[in-house]
Amino acid sequence: MQESGKSGYFDYNATTPMVAAARDAYSAASESNWHNPSSLYPAAGHTRRLLEQARTTLAEFLGVEEEDRIIFTSGATEANNLVVRHYAATQPGSRLLISATEHPSLREPARLSFGRNVRAIPVDSSGVTNLGALEASLAEKQAGVVSIMAANNETGVLQPWFEARELCRNNEVPFHCDATQWIGKLNALQLGACDWLSGAAHKFGGPKGIGFLVVPPGLEDLKGAPAGGPQERGLRAGTENYPAVAAMVAALADANKRLGSMETMATDRDAFEQTLKKAIPGITVCGGRAPRLWNTTMLIVPKHKNLKWLTRLAELGFFLSTGSACSSGKENPSHVMEAMGLDFDQMGRVLRISAGWETTHADWQDLALAFIQVNNDLKTASRQRPGKPTISLTDINPLH
Ligand code: PMP
Repeated sequence: MQESGKSGYFDYNATTPMVAAARDAYSAASESNWHNPSSLYPAAGHTRRLLEQARTTLAEFLGVEEEDRIIFTSGATEANNLVVRHYAATQPGSRLLISATEHPSLREPARLSFGRNVRAIPVDSSGVTNLGALEASLAEKQAGVVSIMAANNETGVLQPWFEARELCRNNEVPFHCDATQWIGKLNALQLGACDWLSGAAHKFGGPKGIGFLVVPPGLEDLKGAPAGGPQERGLRAGTENYPAVAAMVAALADANKRLGSMETMATDRDAFEQTLKKAIPGITVCGGRAPRLWNTTMLIVPKHKNLKWLTRLAELGFFLSTGSACSSGKENPSHVMEAMGLDFDQMGRVLRISAGWETTHADWQDLALAFIQVNNDLKTASRQRPGKPTISLTDINPLH
């Protein structure tokens, strides 16, 4: 049974509903362990110990050997900004190498702090970062730091972050990985091998406004972080949000239990794509040939602007995105599509669909039917009021 009845919600890469385990952990901690972990009376000391236990558990989930490498942040945007600002301050004039499809929370601080010293490593037409180009850039000039995401938020395409980290290690360049979309969807145990790592709880069933940054072992000063009190080993000031941390760790524990079954859910996504390809001539899947997250598909719909599709699908009770959720509603096409070589017309016809652990085979089928209905409606340009899909999947695909 669906925990929160969100069967038409296909925007999990933008954010996820909180799982029951996270809500329970949050309310239990808010009720009993709300004290300031830095205070000196016993209840505060207890909250401090719980906070440190949560840090240890998170370190175990991420394969991080020293738990004091984990700094709690307000989310992945802050974590990404901190990495960039730290290197801009400690290695002025050095180069920052990033993949061309990094999230704006990495690209924008990179542009602001490194300016012309940012080098975007190209991706191929499937959206996979070109390791040869990274290797060549590393050989050309000493880089301050390299940042390659683990999985792309728009296409779901998995990046060769482990190989990129090896190249960086061979060149003695620190490696940062924005693993925000990977964590909670795939096994995270190897991620701790990265020098820096970003993540956010609200992408895996935890609350918004809490995340983390894994820093290199022994780091004593994090430039650009909030200054003030001695929290987080003096690296990031601000009273720790233990209830949110407890909820984040509970959410990840929950997601880890589901990892095996989630990976098989790719079958439902693949069947959805096959159905649409048969029923809607001209529809294409971006990055479909690359390894992808099991929950994501980015489609180019034939004819008609994506916003038209988005509106009609929403009227039928299905909620998805155009490009990055951060830029949806704007006319600006996403840099991810641009980097993958899509032309302007194609960029205006992109829809991004991302399912969750609650999404069932039937939900994917209903979405396929809604797509087919919208395609028919748009084709005939009928002015009838939208209603529930009136056709059955067997009409267009006898396999279903
Ligand atoms: N990186 C990636 C890959 C993301 O998908 C997101 C969220 N869209 C972020 C960073 C920013 O995360 P947050 O919302 O926690 O700031």
